[in-house]
Amino acid sequence: MAALGEFELIHRYFAAAACAAPVPGVARGIGDDCALLQLPPGEQLAVSTDTQVAGVHFPDRHDPFLLAQRTLAAATSDLAAMGATPVGFTLALTLPQADPAWLEGFARGLDVMARACDLALIGGDTTRGPLNINATVFGRLPAGQALLRSGARPGDLLCIGGPTGEAAAALPLVLGERDPNGEGDGELLARYWTPQPQLLLGQALRGLASAALDVSDGLLADCGHIAEQSAVALLVDAERVPLTAALREAAGERALQLALSGGDDYVLVFTLPPAALPGLQASGQPFHVIGRVAAGSGVRVLDRDGRDITPAAAGYQHFGGPDGQA
Ligand code: ADP
Ligand code: MG
Repeated sequence: MAALGEFELIHRYFAAAACAAPVPGVARGIGDDCALLQLPPGEQLAVSTDTQVAGVHFPDRHDPFLLAQRTLAAATSDLAAMGATPVGFTLALTLPQADPAWLEGFARGLDVMARACDLALIGGDTTRGPLNINATVFGRLPAGQALLRSGARPGDLLCIGGPTGEAAAALPLVLGERDPNGEGDGELLARYWTPQPQLLLGQALRGLASAALDVSDGLLADCGHIAEQSAVALLVDAERVPLTAALREAAGERALQLALSGGDDYVLVFTLPPAALPGLQASGQPFHVIGRVAAGSGVRVLDRDGRDITPAAAGYQHFGGPDGQA
């Protein structure tokens, strides 16, 4: 890093950030060869990593303040999906150059999301190259209480933590193919750039939900992971899938399709034994029942008359797949 040295950069923008300040649970943060985490007795460490590549996960023209929030939120959503309590994160940054304006905006956005999620910045790596950002998040939870994808049973309810489809509907705005116009578009853009990981919902689901994950590749595609790992079928009632006014306005007839198959939503999907419903309602956390678990395999979408209206292609995969997408 020419003008601004690597260590000066790390210190100025990251080690000195509010989110890197000492907190309980982090015995050693930025500055040594490793960070040291101190877990309470009987707790397990939950770890997830997420990489965002310029031109693949976000446009080359972007606001670094928003990009930082989105990157950290995408990683942290995995902690929510396990029911974990956030502890800290590391940040591996590959930058084409040390641009102070970009770094300042990025560090500010990182701090906003880190504090919203109660995550301490505990270390990282800084290198030069094409823009690429990795966040690795660490959380904790009582041993044996993690929300897995494998516990759904026939008879369980299928639930979702919030509406989907808005981030996908924001894509033409994000890519500059359409100019934002009105409040609805602002909402769509916020969904794309600043998703809020459902950490409290995830923690409320501990001991209640039989399976859970967060939707990143599209509702149906991700439901497919629960169906497969639990060896059950998931039946989605199309008319119970929540569609926001902003989504309807932007997508018209395609609203349901985007809600089912769009991506980047970062809301939780989970299965719930009916007996656990009152307990979850009492938590005050938001959720919608959108279907049920049945014996069998795969994910099906049903209309109000019980007819199968499952769309053919179900989500995004980087290296293609049964859908043949690249
Ligand atoms: P090492 O060579 O031992 O891997 P580095 O010189 O790369 O260590 O980093 C020095 C310290 O700064 C380490 O504690 C590392 O975790 C931290 N660090 C490096 N880059 C970042 C970053 N982008 N954000 C936060 N901490 C960072
Ligand atoms: Mg070292």
